[in-house]
Amino acid sequence: MKRGIVPGTFDPLTSGHLDIIERAAGLLDEIVVGVALSADKGGGPLFSEEERVRFIEAATSHLSNVSVRAFDTLLVDFADEVDASVIIKGLRAMTDFEREFQMAALNWRLDSKIETMFIMAIPEYMFLSSSAVKEIARHGGSVRGLVPEVVVEALSRKLS
Ligand code: ADP
Repeated sequence: MKRGIVPGTFDPLTSGHLDIIERAAGLLDEIVVGVALSADKGGGPLFSEEERVRFIEAATSHLSNVSVRAFDTLLVDFADEVDASVIIKGLRAMTDFEREFQMAALNWRLDSKIETMFIMAIPEYMFLSSSAVKEIARHGGSVRGLVPEVVVEALSRKLS
């Protein structure tokens, strides 16, 4: 039984994140999506941890082997806690590579039994990020298609 974790801040979940979660769920037996508290990331997240977890639960309800958990520890400790042996990360352009390469090396140093696996973003979502989505929404642009429907509604409520 192979269990993997898909970690991130998910502030908020985008269609790019969801695509990675769906593809990971097709590769491994079980996926735990780990929502990092990230209280200190760029002035704090727009959505609370509970909201971010709820969006992912709603958007992945069709996937029976996916569950969602919040965490505020080292990633390798979280993997250990949920009994996962693989960390799955999405890779967009070259810009992600440097940071992800460093994190994978550090996580390997912390616990070499846990493997990091990368899944390439599909071209359509290659330039999609949570921060771009928030920027578009803040200025009244449409984010439909860039995020799941549950997030479209939450963004318009939060920013109106
Ligand atoms: P961000 O980098 O947008 O703040 P997160 O910290 O929530 O997002 O990212 C979690 C993971 O999802 C990272 O591995 C990141 O590279 C990946 N990811 C983010 N956006 C996309 C996308 N559009 N397509 C594929 N993977 C993505």
